Amino acid sequence: MSDRQTKTDVILIGAGIMSATLGSMLKELVPDWKITVFEKLASAGEESSNEWNNAGTGHAALCELNYTSEKPDGSVDISKAINVNEQFQVSMQFWSYLVNSNLIRNPQDFIMPLPHMSLVQGAQNVAFLKRRFDAMTSNPLFQGMEFSDDPKKLKEWIPLIMNERTSKEPIAATKIDTGTDVNFGALTRMLFDHLKTKNVDIQYKKSVNDIKRASDGTWELKVKNVDTGTVERHNAKFVFIGGGGGSLHLLQKFDIPEGKHIGGFPISGLFMVCNNPDVVAQHHAKVYGKAAVGAPPMSVPHLDTRFIDNKKSLLFGPFAGFSPKFLKTGSMFDLITSVKPDNLLTLLASGAKNVPLTTYLIQQVMLSKEKRMEELRAFVPNAKSEDWDLLVAGQRVQVIKDTPAGKGTLQFGTEVVSAADGSVAALLGASPGASTAVHVMLEVINKCFPQHVKAWEPKLKEMIPSYGLSLMNNPELLHEVHSSTAQSLGLSSVPQPVTQA
Ligand SMILES: Cc1cc2nc3c(=O)[nH]c(=O)nc-3n(C[C@H](O)[C@H](O)[C@H](O)COP(=O)(O)OP(=O)(O)OC[C@H]3O[C@@H](n4cnc5c(N)ncnc54)[C@H](O)[C@@H]3O)c2cc1C
Repeated sequence: MSDRQTKTDVILIGAGIMSATLGSMLKELVPDWKITVFEKLASAGEESSNEWNNAGTGHAALCELNYTSEKPDGSVDISKAINVNEQFQVSMQFWSYLVNSNLIRNPQDFIMPLPHMSLVQGAQNVAFLKRRFDAMTSNPLFQGMEFSDDPKKLKEWIPLIMNERTSKEPIAATKIDTGTDVNFGALTRMLFDHLKTKNVDIQYKKSVNDIKRASDGTWELKVKNVDTGTVERHNAKFVFIGGGGGSLHLLQKFDIPEGKHIGGFPISGLFMVCNNPDVVAQHHAKVYGKAAVGAPPMSVPHLDTRFIDNKKSLLFGPFAGFSPKFLKTGSMFDLITSVKPDNLLTLLASGAKNVPLTTYLIQQVMLSKEKRMEELRAFVPNAKSEDWDLLVAGQRVQVIKDTPAGKGTLQFGTEVVSAADGSVAALLGASPGASTAVHVMLEVINKCFPQHVKAWEPKLKEMIPSYGLSLMNNPELLHEVHSSTAQSLGLSSVPQPVTQA
């Protein structure tokens, strides 16, 4: 144990997109607050936020079929899609503010314009997609979306998917050109570089191992130097647990009532990646299909163009899987050590309910490369095994908690858990994920600093012009936000043409 002990205003645990976002927002709101970051890995954005550990979809509900559902009367409920879209617009505005204020540069290094498409097959699915298109395009948020069930048109939009397609089944797609591919790893690193220039103390290879309340009411963190094994003590008035999959274990150490009766269920992700330039050149979109029966919502199959390090590649997946680790770099004991007396019944109830899901995930893990290629060929009929490699992506830890729907209910969204006195907040869950980081961090700010929010409002409005307003209900503001963010983030450029095979 070292004698070193420090006191600071804010500690952020973990150097992923969430801590990066909260740190950047707080530095704008209260520049003189002292912020320290502890990250157990050697650099920022190495876990789920890393560009190869997630799909890089700027989730704005422009293509994800799981954000809309069919009501018993056949009409389509788009309320979730509206929420996700509004939340993504909040991120876009904050990123634009950072670029316009020269706090980060070269937006093309982290965000690229890319058409977002939904694709379905079969008469029933085609009819649903058309009803969904009608419902969405009657809302100002989704203006510009197109629908086609004409194979000729689809061949223009998605030649790689349509070429050599022999199936005579009806097929249809929607397409909207205002979608994006986001390199969340690059953005995370940019934000931490920016925070360094603002005197934020960022300490890598430092693992937060224990926490207790100090006599002066601050939180005392025991932080281990991963290289030397030395343990230091650091105190803060406010702690944000941005440990990604590691957040649940950290929350449990805080021993606050709000953190009880919560469990976690890890779902791993695998992608197939293609770097063959001839194949890559034939596709320019993110194309989301329908999830298989029994599959969790985050494993909706999609074929995406990715822009990473100025290089285009294709990603297909994700294939969900089961691993007891809560982080990609985590331990095989993560799941078992997350079981505590207070969440045991919640986890048991969930285990009993989710046998089919666990079975599905285990089956997914066992799939051979050829079996995965068969799933890919439903998208790309002439996909060749030698063009595609398997890529292990990040872990998502889904929240399990007791809800009015029942004990041990598996949640597929994100949850901000905070202490009643606002001295600590944790982010659990991972969907819609990094895309909505700014909205979620606003929730942290509102829950943990209610006494400051009124005074911070003018700055919040400068950073996020739609702060406190619904864009859907303010079409003029929506138009302004669309054009100004597209301009600042360099998204107005003409889409690249797709090569016809
Ligand atoms: C397969 C997959 C696909 C996804 N696709 C998308 C997508 O297309 N679009 C989207 O918006 N989102 C997507 N997501 C979700 C998105 O990646 C996450 O929501 C987001 O990256 C989480 O960021 P974070 O900062 O909370 O966690 P992370 O990026 O995981 O960062 C947490 C950090 O905390 C550190 N840490 C943990 N414990 C400790 C400790 N005790 N002490 C010190 N440091 C610690 C970790 O080392 C890590 O660096 C996807 C996720 C997965 C897994």
